[in-house]
Amino acid sequence: MLDMAQIEALRAAPVADRDHLVDGRSFSPTSGQRLDVKTPIDGSVLTTMARGDATDVEAAVSAARRAFADRRWRGLPAARRKAIMARWADLIEAELLELTVLGVRDNGTEIAMAIKAEAASAAATIRYYGEAIDKMSGEIAPTPDNRLGLVHREPVGVVGAIVPWNFPLMIGAWKLAPAIAAGNSVVLKPAETASLALLRLAELAHEAGLPDGVLNVVTGLGGEAGAALAASSDVDVLVFTGSGATGRKLLQASAESNLKRVYLELGGKSPNIVFADAPDLETAAEAAVNAVFRNSGQVCVAGSRLLVERSIHEEFIERLRSRADRMRVGDPLDPETQIGAVNSQSQLHANLKAVAQAQEDGARVIGGGQRLLESSGGYYMQPTIIADVALAHRLFQREVFGPVLAVTTFDGEAEAVALANAGPYGLASGVWTADLARAHRMVMAIKAGVVHVNTYGGTDITVPMGGQKQSGNGYDRSLHALDKFQNLKTAWIAID
Ligand code: ADP
Repeated sequence: MLDMAQIEALRAAPVADRDHLVDGRSFSPTSGQRLDVKTPIDGSVLTTMARGDATDVEAAVSAARRAFADRRWRGLPAARRKAIMARWADLIEAELLELTVLGVRDNGTEIAMAIKAEAASAAATIRYYGEAIDKMSGEIAPTPDNRLGLVHREPVGVVGAIVPWNFPLMIGAWKLAPAIAAGNSVVLKPAETASLALLRLAELAHEAGLPDGVLNVVTGLGGEAGAALAASSDVDVLVFTGSGATGRKLLQASAESNLKRVYLELGGKSPNIVFADAPDLETAAEAAVNAVFRNSGQVCVAGSRLLVERSIHEEFIERLRSRADRMRVGDPLDPETQIGAVNSQSQLHANLKAVAQAQEDGARVIGGGQRLLESSGGYYMQPTIIADVALAHRLFQREVFGPVLAVTTFDGEAEAVALANAGPYGLASGVWTADLARAHRMVMAIKAGVVHVNTYGGTDITVPMGGQKQSGNGYDRSLHALDKFQNLKTAWIAID
């Protein structure tokens, strides 16, 4: 149960101005420039943070490089490194509500979701990779008798991590924890509208005993601090979650600098497919609205394209509409709220524009589409359902990253597969059917990193998450995530 009195006290707590965190210390921006941090709850200024530039990024990358070179972290015994990561997770859990409320004030996610998906998830992720530290080892290859082939797993060196604003702690931990567990140093660039909780998370790492310089945080704008990190020739691997447009810039920056490996998670337009033989249409409808409206649709795996078999189409839309109408939109710090604030004014405007454009193009707006609670100064939007969205339409093809569900009808399995695989993305998907053979056929046919069957969303650290097609490459979560942060090196030894 969330403690309302504690939430209200935390809501009102002043937030100190924040600097970067470099080499274990607070680091003022070299330029002296700062950014206002606005809360999407009511548009007011919460605090300020450092506006990082290339000079600040260079200082952070140098600190990370020094920490890697002198082995102050990777040289520690595995049991010690494991204990430090476990302690880090403990410290996060000890201030779960404080971290969650700080994050919600910064990014607007409803607290009912953030309390599980943010700080708690980050602690679990850090614990999971900490526990993996003394279970990772290299290989002895099955070579001829007179040769010994040892395959070492080595940390890559300095990792740059650029993360988004929708789930900063969860996604941040997906990048930081395996990178650090594998023995690397990290420079993190959080999103400009969700940096505060991650700065605190990094402070807790130091309190837990992570040596200085192993985890550095540079805040600021994507086009400045982020671009400088991507362009650095001393960053060995860059990991990113965010938009496709930025992902392309990161690949370019790699090509124009040191050819660093770049791993991208770029969102999607994930199809949620409801067959007429779904085991329970009520459950499917409930899952479908949650799949796209929670966190105002700002979820990379959101089931934002609903494909419904023609025979149940109108009936199913009605079920969706009645549910969406009842969803509580508003103050993200109220535990009863189901849809909090859109993260920024610009995202809100982009969402409203996408709806207006769809309407102009002849799609049918079933419900929603309007801004809400404007007088609060915050950024709120109604859950929006748009039917008759044609294959060629932008709403079918492109991510909105808002509470906007595009519904399309299909006839039969073959058309469902064709529609599911149309478009540039391949991140997530869902299939609702009571036919086991059909479910397996769909899993094989859909091009996506995950196919949910008779459920949507909800996951576990033990399974990988990654995209196909233009949703990206590489995997977060599970032991596979460690591969991004390691090089294989062969020792080829004569033993004649
Ligand atoms: P969105 O448009 O949804 O905010 P972005 O891809 O722009 O998504 O943001 C994700 C992260 O990428 C943020 O941390 C942002 O600061 C960063 N970013 C944005 N533009 C650039 C860029 N040109 N170079 C590096 N990082 C960037």
